[in-house]
Amino acid sequence: MAAFEGKLSFESKVSCADPECEEEGAMAKDELKIPISASVRHVHLSREHVEALYGAGHKLTVKADLSQPGQFACEETVMLLGPKGKVERVRVLGPERDETQVEISRTDEFLLGIDAPIRPSGKLDGTPGLKLQGPKGEVALSRGVIQAQRHIHMSPADGDRFGVKDKDWVMVRVGGERGIIFDDVLVRVHKDYRLDMHLDTDEANAADLHPGSMGVLIKGPTQVKPEPED
Ligand SMILES: [Zn+2]
Repeated sequence: MAAFEGKLSFESKVSCADPECEEEGAMAKDELKIPISASVRHVHLSREHVEALYGAGHKLTVKADLSQPGQFACEETVMLLGPKGKVERVRVLGPERDETQVEISRTDEFLLGIDAPIRPSGKLDGTPGLKLQGPKGEVALSRGVIQAQRHIHMSPADGDRFGVKDKDWVMVRVGGERGIIFDDVLVRVHKDYRLDMHLDTDEANAADLHPGSMGVLIKGPTQVKPEPED
């Protein structure tokens, strides 16, 4: 059973079966724990594309707030159409952005018949497009499809606590029967961020994660990726 194919919430908290996660009084370890959420496939839309898909003047409707302040899941969904297949009812996330971005898993890519790179949000040069279908129209994207680079959102205070800074690369260990150490996890520090690690559904399911799970941050020689520019 895929833990993150559920329809109840967009971002599902995952939990860790590692007994160390439940250890009482392990303050040093507790301080380095990070809640983990799985981001189900989703789309961020530009104003132009909101209107193309849902009609002139349409405003996105808030369905539920997400972990990061100001970010929300919308009532609106869209269909993704690729050369090999389609994925229906893909959630739109708000607020609107300057450029439309589609975040899907590797599994979704096989269904659609496209090959999208792993990128931090907003780094869309050289990414493939696909077709979006909404109730009022279609949009043929020339670019914007990515697999989201796994990352941790944190406040400057959390950055100090973990001893990391914006754009650092770290590892995060999760326990359980399919425990994994995730390498190449991008740290994003901003005053508006709330501590949360974001994986896609393939990554979360590979570790058999479940709602409520925590990871442990490991600092190490893992800087194998170039720095994103902003
Ligand atoms: Zn995120």
